[in-house]
Amino acid sequence: MSYQCPVCGFEHLREPPRSESGGASFEICPACGFQFGVSDDDECYTYDVWRMDWIAGGMRWASRQNKPDRWNPIVLLEKVMPPKKAKRKRR
Ligand SMILES: [Zn+2]
Repeated sequence: MSYQCPVCGFEHLREPPRSESGGASFEICPACGFQFGVSDDDECYTYDVWRMDWIAGGMRWASRQNKPDRWNPIVLLEKVMPPKKAKRKRR
């Protein structure tokens, strides 16, 4: 069983992501680097804030472990982005 990261959409987390109901996870997402139970609680990042920072930083693979061959952050992000924020800003 694997779980989807609510920040970046990575689909192979080993633990269910911590939810607002308080389910515990202390996993670090290898894709976006979000640390459940640390970044969200202790450092008060919301999923949205972390996601925006990660996108702004170029959506880099965060872990030292090899990234999956077919990892496509753009496709995955579309699955977790709130609909209003899914539109891209024009540059
Ligand atoms: Zn992630």
